Amino acid sequence: MSGPIWDDHAWEPLPRLEGTVRADVCVVGLGGSGLAALEELHAHGVSAVGLDARGVGAGAAGRNGGFVLAGLAKFYHQTVAQLGRATAAAIYRATAEEIRRQAAAMPEVFRLKGSLRLAADAAELGDCRAHLAALQADGFAGEWYRGPEGEGLLLPTDGVFQPLARVRTLARRLRAQGVLLYEQSQLVKLLPGQVVTGGGVVHCDAVIVAVDGRLEAIFPELAGRVRTARLQMLGTAPAPEVRFPRPIYWRHGYEYWQQRPDGAIALGGFRDHALEAEWTQLAEPTDFIQERLEKFLREHLRVHAPVTHRWAASVGYTPDGLPLLEELRPRVWVAGGYSGTGNIVGALGGRTAAQRLCGAPAPWADLLAAARSGGVETGRGLSMPPAAF
Ligand SMILES: Cc1cc2nc3c(=O)[nH]c(=O)nc-3n(C[C@H](O)[C@H](O)[C@H](O)COP(=O)(O)OP(=O)(O)OC[C@H]3O[C@@H](n4cnc5c(N)ncnc54)[C@H](O)[C@@H]3O)c2cc1C
Repeated sequence: MSGPIWDDHAWEPLPRLEGTVRADVCVVGLGGSGLAALEELHAHGVSAVGLDARGVGAGAAGRNGGFVLAGLAKFYHQTVAQLGRATAAAIYRATAEEIRRQAAAMPEVFRLKGSLRLAADAAELGDCRAHLAALQADGFAGEWYRGPEGEGLLLPTDGVFQPLARVRTLARRLRAQGVLLYEQSQLVKLLPGQVVTGGGVVHCDAVIVAVDGRLEAIFPELAGRVRTARLQMLGTAPAPEVRFPRPIYWRHGYEYWQQRPDGAIALGGFRDHALEAEWTQLAEPTDFIQERLEKFLREHLRVHAPVTHRWAASVGYTPDGLPLLEELRPRVWVAGGYSGTGNIVGALGGRTAAQRLCGAPAPWADLLAAARSGGVETGRGLSMPPAAF
């Protein structure tokens, strides 16, 4: 019952780091962000090793809802209000392009049939209209939707992927290219030019720490700038009694679900029902949230199929909802803090940290810098609680 519905158990564990290795760059964290960093470094001909405290996709990257959505955690109209139209539009364009890029590279794990943002009540319908109007005003695809699942907006260029399959595919490809990846290798100490794990040391010129949840456990100086929260989900056996052709997020994104091609449902949400308790670095599911998820599954989604999986993972929230991406210490880049929506922006963050280290153009970093220089706080997005800090 515990563990994500995405695990098909087709994974050969990778070795633990033992002894000493040498590389130009050490990437810490083998989720979607760290693997994207490794891809980029390899493309630039830079030698790199990757390591993870547990395993490839053992964090949120392999345990999430699988939504691939353009934009940041906040909805587009909220991002426009926060950052202005030009920056919001440029960010949206970059994330939509990243979706296309990843889907083209891994068509077998993506299904880009659109996403539905559905309203939970009349007030949210009004917000959906504002959301759609902002998208259309800037030339982005979106249309009003009324159907058996509810009413709201349809975003035709979004979609889903199989999260664990994505990171495992990336890791297999990197290994086939000769990139060394280590599992069960936790960073315990960061010294200038050295990443020390329980079993060995990586000597390197630079480090990228690509960790979303629990980032402040590695870098205490980030306390107050990023905060770890737990998000929970459940999964069911195939549910032929319902049909959800597109992934749906509901109630301002607090609840989200998708139906896999085999009919199984993956459903997450209700974090705001236990806001204080879910600000935690623990990543075990709780009865409190799981009971709410199951009630919603039965009463709102009308699914009868048995629950087969329950899981949770850690993510990092930032006060302004903007991802964290910076050279925190000399030659040490950090990428994280995706505020509940990191499948796409995480990969952009990891790749961008690598570009910066290679001295290559890094348009995503420039966009985030522009966003930070003019930002004001407002709104919330997928799983983003109000008044988070
Ligand atoms: C339940 C849930 C549902 C979600 N749904 C969605 C969604 O539908 N769409 C979306 O876009 N986003 C979603 N998210 C958010 C998204 O999953 C994350 O933002 C994203 O996966 C982060 O990827 P990452 O590679 O940056 O970090 P992670 O996947 O967290 O990877 C970090 C890795 O670093 C490792 N690590 C941590 N500390 C150390 C250390 N000291 N030494 C070595 N390794 C270490 C961890 O073991 C982990 O494997 C969801 C998250 C959760 C938890």
